[in-house]
Amino acid sequence: MTTVAAYAAPAAKAPLERTTIERRAVREHDVLIDIKFAGICHSDIHQAQEGWGEAIFPMVPGHEIAGVVSEVGPGVTKYKVGDRVGVGCLVDSCRKCENCEAGREQFCLNGSVGTYNAIGKDGEPTYGGYSEKVVVDENFVVRIPEGLALDEAAPLLCAGITTYSPLKRWGAGPGKKVAVIGLGGLGHMGVKIAHALGAEVTVLSQSLRKKDDGLKLGADHYYATSDPKTFEELAGSFDLIVSTVSAPLDIGAYLGLLKTDGALVNVGAPEEPVALNLFSLIGGNKTLAGSMIGGIAETQEMLDFCAAHGIGSEIEVIAASEINEAYERVVKSDVRYRFVIDTATI
Ligand SMILES: [Zn+2]
Ligand SMILES: [Zn+2]
Repeated sequence: MTTVAAYAAPAAKAPLERTTIERRAVREHDVLIDIKFAGICHSDIHQAQEGWGEAIFPMVPGHEIAGVVSEVGPGVTKYKVGDRVGVGCLVDSCRKCENCEAGREQFCLNGSVGTYNAIGKDGEPTYGGYSEKVVVDENFVVRIPEGLALDEAAPLLCAGITTYSPLKRWGAGPGKKVAVIGLGGLGHMGVKIAHALGAEVTVLSQSLRKKDDGLKLGADHYYATSDPKTFEELAGSFDLIVSTVSAPLDIGAYLGLLKTDGALVNVGAPEEPVALNLFSLIGGNKTLAGSMIGGIAETQEMLDFCAAHGIGSEIEVIAASEINEAYERVVKSDVRYRFVIDTATI
């Protein structure tokens, strides 16, 4: 066991504070990672505040981890000391069920193990990336290609894969009109990736406040959803809409923006249920879908894609002492576009 410094929420809704945690000794297939950067995802805040239900405390959040391998177990074949690696939302799964075999470990039928706020197969709670080091089985570690800076790569481990996976699955590419709802941590990655895939990209944001940014990130068009004319003008326009917002939306109004056979995929996770008149799905054979991160192999594919297209996250690097302030700013959507903790400051 190694004692490492970390930032933890001692209880639900309590501010995060500096503490120490134990990391297990490196086992046969484990790698020890010196964490360099950890992104702050909105879901860290939902969980630290128990917005998604009962959680495990103390909680060390963080599932956007970028670092360097500093030790490997004797059975490790994929990584060596000095490799640049990342860890996303999962650190284990059963590896035998139908979904694990298909590379969809996030839907392990026997329960995947979250990077934090979860209990590992060894019965111990998992602690996330707001810490100096982490020990992870090599099969749940991905390689960060040379072309990507570690700080800009960290948010790809959640925000990147969360948007890449549905864009790929639903065919974003040349000749397709794709809209991204919300230009935040997820949304800005959705815009960059959809653009790199060759789609015509529209941002649907509450206001035009971030329009210049959106166009710079690769959007072709930018509309304010607070303007009712937007919904008239864009009716029947899109092959695919990806919603990244975690506030309740008028889903029916957005379904009206889809072409026949279009799909609206939700990756944001509002805490409250939403109401929907199903006639808005029936007319036009529309699909309302969800998507949750991606499997390990797809996460590697996303990193390779981002490196090939020069795509990192737009970030504000902060010191660990600024985490609580950053949380308040994320809740107010006051970040362009992802906070990343420099873990050397923990
Ligand atoms: Zn996340
Ligand atoms: Zn499984």
